[in-house]
Amino acid sequence: MQLFECSNCHQPVYFDNNYCTACQHALGFDAKQMQMVALEGSEDAAIWTEPSSQTQYKFCQNKQYHVCNWLLLETDQQAFCLACSLNRVIPNLSEPEYRQRWHKIELAKHRLVYALLRWQLPLENKLQNPQQGLAFDFKADPNCPHEPKVMTGHDNGLITLNIAEADDVERAMARNNMDEVYRTLLGHFRHEIGHYYWDVLVDGTEFLQPCRALFGDERMDYQQALDRHYHQGPPSDWMQHYISPYATMHPWEDWAETWAHYLHIVDVLETADSFGMQIRPQVVQQQHDHLMHLAVKKNPYYNQSLDEIYQAWLPISFAMNSLNRSMGQDDFYPFVINLEVQNKLRFIHEVIQATAQKAHQAA
Ligand SMILES: [Zn+2]
Ligand SMILES: [Zn+2]
Ligand SMILES: [Zn+2]
Repeated sequence: MQLFECSNCHQPVYFDNNYCTACQHALGFDAKQMQMVALEGSEDAAIWTEPSSQTQYKFCQNKQYHVCNWLLLETDQQAFCLACSLNRVIPNLSEPEYRQRWHKIELAKHRLVYALLRWQLPLENKLQNPQQGLAFDFKADPNCPHEPKVMTGHDNGLITLNIAEADDVERAMARNNMDEVYRTLLGHFRHEIGHYYWDVLVDGTEFLQPCRALFGDERMDYQQALDRHYHQGPPSDWMQHYISPYATMHPWEDWAETWAHYLHIVDVLETADSFGMQIRPQVVQQQHDHLMHLAVKKNPYYNQSLDEIYQAWLPISFAMNSLNRSMGQDDFYPFVINLEVQNKLRFIHEVIQATAQKAHQAA
């Protein structure tokens, strides 16, 4: 993600800040201009003004629950911002614990939506487009043990998240049970939105055949694949062909897992770039030099080939893993991108770039 600054005093601020600690202005995110806007108004004001342009804004309704800092123009009919208008079911707010979980969930979801907006991927909610639109249900398991538990997943544009995933202990337990090396809310969202965009961008398009050639034929029985995966586990040589053991389960899961990694990589590279990060390992021989230098010269959301992205990714992930090890933490990126995964990433890159370019030309 890019590094944001307060539009009034240029102090660097986080994406979810709603207040500038340097100049004391209220802050909100303008998703059309992709910037943090400093605002004037009283604490409970309905209308906020950007002082230099005198543009009048209102905050998304979810600001009252401290889960959103996005802005709408004062003249806008909608009460919710683009990210929050995707919500269909939110957690029960009479449970204080659930409010905290919702806060973490929205942080991750807004970050996801930021990336979708950067590429201008199709993004409509299910009210606007019941067939192809997107919606989120954030649900807790029922109290009654006989009722079925909430399954995190995607079904025809509806992404359901079990809000237990926002509880650090519960998530760590699930990660252990599933024998995973990485499990985060953002990772869930990036995986599930991958299923959604498979439906929207691949199914029934010119991408379907090449997708099958790389990921396998998605018409194979999903339930059988699921049963096989949970009984037998992944094939022993999975590391040569897949990004994760779960990706071996079914072509759809391979696509969603790889898609999520593409989103991880582009976000990290943009963040590294916006901090001006340069990596020059001291031990690296001259002939390998070019491989180990992080040089994100161009915006990783556009204008970069997959090779450029991958070559920037190697040094940054290696350096970040080393930094984490210095602190006794787990690896920052505990995955190995093999050649087959590189080709799958390249295909996802092409699908996203083709879609982004079309949107760009239409605009
Ligand atoms: Zn400021
Ligand atoms: Zn919002
Ligand atoms: Zn999945």
